[in-house]
Amino acid sequence: MKNKNIQKILIANRGEIAVRIIKTCREMGIKTVAIYSDVDKNATFARYADEAFYVGSASAKESYLHQEKIIEISKKAKVDAIHPGYGFLSENPSFVREVEKNHIIFIGPGEESIQKLGNKIIARKIAKSAGVPIVPGTMEPINSVDRAQSIIASIGYPVLLKAAGGGGGKGMRVINSDSELASGLRTCQNEALLAFGDDRIFIEKYISNPRHIEVQILADQHGNIVHLGERECSIQRRHQKIVEESPSIAINQKLRDDITEAAVEVVKRGNYTNAGTVEFILDTDNNFYFLEMNTRLQVEHPVTEMRSGIDLVRQQILIAEGKELPFSQKDISLHGHAIEARICAEDPLNNFFPSTGTLRFINSPRGMGLREDTGVEQGDQITPYYDPMISKLIAWGATRDECLGKMSLALKMYQIYGVRNNLPLCSWIIDHPKFREGVYHTHFLQEYFSSEEFNIPGKELLKAGAAVVGHIVTTGSKKRIGSRPTFFSQWRNSKSEYYR
Ligand code: ADP
Ligand code: ADP
Ligand code: MG
Repeated sequence: MKNKNIQKILIANRGEIAVRIIKTCREMGIKTVAIYSDVDKNATFARYADEAFYVGSASAKESYLHQEKIIEISKKAKVDAIHPGYGFLSENPSFVREVEKNHIIFIGPGEESIQKLGNKIIARKIAKSAGVPIVPGTMEPINSVDRAQSIIASIGYPVLLKAAGGGGGKGMRVINSDSELASGLRTCQNEALLAFGDDRIFIEKYISNPRHIEVQILADQHGNIVHLGERECSIQRRHQKIVEESPSIAINQKLRDDITEAAVEVVKRGNYTNAGTVEFILDTDNNFYFLEMNTRLQVEHPVTEMRSGIDLVRQQILIAEGKELPFSQKDISLHGHAIEARICAEDPLNNFFPSTGTLRFINSPRGMGLREDTGVEQGDQITPYYDPMISKLIAWGATRDECLGKMSLALKMYQIYGVRNNLPLCSWIIDHPKFREGVYHTHFLQEYFSSEEFNIPGKELLKAGAAVVGHIVTTGSKKRIGSRPTFFSQWRNSKSEYYR
């Protein structure tokens, strides 16, 4: 068992999550080391860290995924530990092995847990052996159409082909009939090999209109496990979350107890340590099924931090040091309601196509119960190389209604110009009567969102906004900047009329 005080951490990541981790390290008096690629030379996270090292060119393969270079820098900077954040190398067991071989602590679970729980097929087996319901489907990789057909004969179409090593909403394909099966399987295998270096595919029954419910876990190296309640992440595009909330209003206390208990069982059975998330899918009859385990810090972790008052990054570091969790399940109390919106540089009116360019103007909302996690500042570039998330806006309120009110206003106050972004979409979601009622599922956007209907003021004003701000920034004139509130209220008024 590791038992060491961590004094210096290398953050093998970039953007908002690197900034987020650096903040907690600073609070704890821990020195930080950033690594940056060509395009991130002047990025906020690289400037915030105590030390920053160049790692490689813009392509992730040459930088944030380059295991040897990252370990070499870690040794040079004499760090005690590496925090992987999410994405990149966070769920890569061979990286954990290399890190530990070099006597550096990996802030996350052990290699073996990632190997098992990070693989969706093995994780299904673990969940099943722990007595947790899994989505009907295969327990082994599928290699032939015949085998696939015999499984589908018992579960029925539609089915979902999924990559065992998939993540980030990628590596999934819905199959509706026999005629789509052979080519679907081939394409899915090829894509999985290319994206994840693993062509193993399995089949799950495609659940119609489900809700995504996940449970945050903390497990130390002494066998203590707690959960910090659930998050609902059913508002998605391309199987990727956009708006997350806690608690979920889809479940009652009995179901909550069952789901959180199931999550703890999976973690126990997988010998898992550190922070992790067990994901479930809930069908329209309120049956829940294990989906996967994310063996890392999750993008939406602030929602849980706002309700629990527990800094998950701090706990990750303490667990990695070999400390016991400072609380047990009965000490944890979750207060009020929290919602997060992922603000992304993408165009909801053009199939969520990522938008690149200079962030010419940013004005973030502030106020009681609001939190913004971001890795960019005005003047920074959104490049095509990495995830186009600009920031995460999180609101907390004593009740869901209060929280919705705060989030709704905050999204209207938030101004981002220079790149297309999903602020108007997030605003539309939060104000949508079905979202307000809590009656929604993972196909909320497919069902209710149409670019034609949404298009009217949003698109024109977004274009106008980019132009006006472009002028403000290029001229730098005080007089022009002074004209901003007029523009803002115009935007706000026309939007509120539109959404009324
Ligand atoms: P979360 O489950 O925390 O909501 P996402 O699924 O949105 O996270 O993924 C977070 C980030 O990590 C995204 O940038 C996504 O592309 C990346 N990511 C997630 N899983 C993988 C994976 N298996 N391989 C590569 N990148 C991944
Ligand atoms: P990833 O690793 O990419 O996050 P997940 O297995 O967690 O993959 O699934 C991501 C999303 O895809 C879910 O939140 C849900 O919207 C959808 N999904 C996954 N499996 C199913 C299923 N069997 N039926 C319906 N939707 C599913
Ligand atoms: Mg998932």
